[in-house]
Amino acid sequence: MPSNADLCLFCRIASGAIPAKKVHEDADVVAFHDINPQAPTHVLVIPRKHISALDELTDADAATIGTTIVRATEIARELHLEQEGYRVVINNGEGAGQTVFHIHVHVLGGRAFTWPPG
Ligand code: 5GP
Ligand code: ZN
Repeated sequence: MPSNADLCLFCRIASGAIPAKKVHEDADVVAFHDINPQAPTHVLVIPRKHISALDELTDADAATIGTTIVRATEIARELHLEQEGYRVVINNGEGAGQTVFHIHVHVLGGRAFTWPPG
């Protein structure tokens, strides 16, 4: 039976099976530029562990999601986004705009953002 490693787009990017413009990778997370950027800087930060959505998180995932968010802030700093501010988004479910079902943190910067979001 095919596994997530075979089927999931972001698992395949994490493993290197599909290319992406990576900005960071370590044992826990991979970060890469979004293929369809919604801001001058638009990076996706993903855990290597396959979790399909926020709604699937359990206490066992607390360290994984925590590390993913901490890495997102470190990457934002490396990309010099912190002074102007940046937006961090996790879409949960199709109704909220989730299209890839491997949890990912959007880090968007380099322009002004409005609130509420669309
Ligand atoms: P979602 O809509 O699930 O919150 O975000 C998925 C994001 O993944 C979208 O912003 C989309 O542009 C991005 N994306 C989809 N396919 C690819 C791909 O093959 N490579 C990269 N780098 N980004 C992708
Ligand atoms: Zn996956």
